[in-house]
Amino acid sequence: MGSIQKVLVANRGEIARRVFRTCRRLGIGTVAVASDADAGTWHVAEADEAVILGGAAARDSYLRADAVIEAARRTGADAIHPGYGFLSENAEFAEAVQAAGLAWIGPPASAMRALGAKVPARQLAASLGVPTVPGYDGPDDDDALIAAARRMGAPVLIKASAGGGGRGMRRVDDLSEIAEAVAAARREAVAGFGDGRLLLERYVERPRHIEVQVIADAHGAVVHLGERECSIQRRHQKIVEEAPSPAVGPELRAQLGDAAVKLARAVGYESAGTVEFIVGPDGDWYFLEMNTRLQVEHPVTEAVTGLDLVELQIAVAEGKPLPIGQEDVVLRGHAVEVRLCAEDPARDFVGSTGPLVAFDLDAEARVDTGVRAGDVIGPHYDSLLAKVIVRGEDRADACRRLRRALGRSWVVGLAHNLPLLRDIAADEAWLAGELDTGFLGRRGLPRPPPVDLARAASVAAAIDRALLDTDAQVGVGWRIGGAAAVTATWGFGAEVIGTEADGAGVVVGGSRRSVRVVSLGDGSAQIEEGGVRRSVRWARDGGTGPLADGETVWLHLGDAEGMVRLLPRFPALPAAEEVPGSCVAPSPGVVRAVAVEVGQEVEAGAVLVVLEAMKMEHALRSPVAGVVTAVRVVPGDAVDGGTLLVQVEGSQAVAGHFG
Ligand code: ADP
Ligand code: ADP
Ligand code: MG
Repeated sequence: MGSIQKVLVANRGEIARRVFRTCRRLGIGTVAVASDADAGTWHVAEADEAVILGGAAARDSYLRADAVIEAARRTGADAIHPGYGFLSENAEFAEAVQAAGLAWIGPPASAMRALGAKVPARQLAASLGVPTVPGYDGPDDDDALIAAARRMGAPVLIKASAGGGGRGMRRVDDLSEIAEAVAAARREAVAGFGDGRLLLERYVERPRHIEVQVIADAHGAVVHLGERECSIQRRHQKIVEEAPSPAVGPELRAQLGDAAVKLARAVGYESAGTVEFIVGPDGDWYFLEMNTRLQVEHPVTEAVTGLDLVELQIAVAEGKPLPIGQEDVVLRGHAVEVRLCAEDPARDFVGSTGPLVAFDLDAEARVDTGVRAGDVIGPHYDSLLAKVIVRGEDRADACRRLRRALGRSWVVGLAHNLPLLRDIAADEAWLAGELDTGFLGRRGLPRPPPVDLARAASVAAAIDRALLDTDAQVGVGWRIGGAAAVTATWGFGAEVIGTEADGAGVVVGGSRRSVRVVSLGDGSAQIEEGGVRRSVRWARDGGTGPLADGETVWLHLGDAEGMVRLLPRFPALPAAEEVPGSCVAPSPGVVRAVAVEVGQEVEAGAVLVVLEAMKMEHALRSPVAGVVTAVRVVPGDAVDGGTLLVQVEGSQAVAGHFG
């Protein structure tokens, strides 16, 4: 294989852009592919050339192996990088790419087959003397699994052999539920991976997820690049990763590294891959699986090693020997990555959709993203919006940088996890490095930020100056203690903020402060109060021209989001009351199961409908005890957010109906 001239990335979003970045630096041409739904996105606009594959669903676009290879042929690309997810771990695709005369920027298909699924990978690890989690990976019928689970005792973890992304995995604490759990896991495995094979593992209590990055060439060199700590997870999916792990010293690093290298060597691995381990509280460690692709969290390894993993992958695909040996790998400093996702932590992390009214991430950090302000996030793909990566001289330094980066970042328009990430970055246990995969479950939901009324009032003053038509305000003012006229009032939570014409002063809780708008930008201003100047930001939800009565404006409050509403001079009509007992889709999704029928009596909290949204199943529960009076959906229905699914007529309403 000669030198690569043009790379097609068979992926979307941040990872497509990240691969393009290295290609551009190396003088390599870039080709994007995209679904119809993604035709207007950043990775398409940025590539030298792009081919729209059609469809919106992954199976109609990014998973169409033939169409991707045809796109490479049409554009003259000579190599394909698969990114992660989609076709990245599909050995047939890797073979088809090579059969078409293209370079495959990934591991050999044979290595993918040996390691891609969890059952053969576990068996291989065991045969090499690498410890695996005690469990069952024998003949796979329901009865055998159930019997093995009874022998092992609770808690057990049921896993899909072909699983990934934390999907198709179920913890069972009460073995009376094992049969139901096996059936559900198999259903998810078939639907998600087209492969229903399952295995069991003992559930390791209070574990850390620690993984080792390896890179290997076609000449037998295998090097490990140290570990990443990925213990902060929800739904068995990582949301915060760091390198190195605060729990790993030189000895454990060498042990895990040796095990990872041994596995990679055993299968003739090439390119970048990750060997995942679970490490118990006593330092006992077990092989989990190997991900035969570039991982989402690879940037933290890049940050501490100074290497560009995509550059190394390209060199390996060109047949070059690795430019580094194990002795050249030096870890410098500490790096942390957080995954900013379109998901609602308060509603079981259900994926959210909507427009990015504001999307402004800290400029000091490395930000890997494929979306921009103004984009609309749809329901078709995973929920990752951006990765924010910081590096510091040591862990404390990296943590400090992370807090500031997240505080300054601003996302508006849909539910997201930035408040949760900020909370984690300020959490005492996290700062102390006391982590295990149960961290988030124990820690609970993000705490609402303290109400920064003073900051909101300053932003309202700037908005008054920028967006209110001063002439129209004349004559509607009220006065406090003889001060200048308040010409506009704003609702901020339960508080009311008054602003004077042109934002010359603000009135909060009966006291007035004068304000000077030093400079005005588009959605930003500099404000001076009490001799201190500060920058403030706001965003409107699409409106242009003077602000309308009742319009909401989003604010950045320095380290949190907020909003103010221009209070209308005439009160609006009361909103129609929601019917109690309605079970409404919390987001767009596909109905996977309907658990009740009309006439059935249900307890409060009983599961009514299983909705799959953003590739995860969510059980929607009855908000009240009562009788089902209507069922509006059947399994397979695609529904919009807000659609009434089931109506329950009951007497006592209870809170917290989303479970
Ligand atoms: P990482 O270890 O790189 O964080 P994850 O397991 O979180 O990887 O998955 C990375 C991405 O790839 C996610 O978007 C996930 O949805 C997707 N993914 C991972 N494995 C699979 C798979 N087997 N099939 C489909 N998508 C997958
Ligand atoms: P996936 O392919 O979905 O990434 P993994 O086997 O890598 O599946 O596991 C994902 C996560 O699930 C781990 O990071 C860990 O949090 C949890 N997990 C997996 N196996 C176990 C286990 N045996 N005991 C406890 N937690 C586990
Ligand atoms: Mg994994």
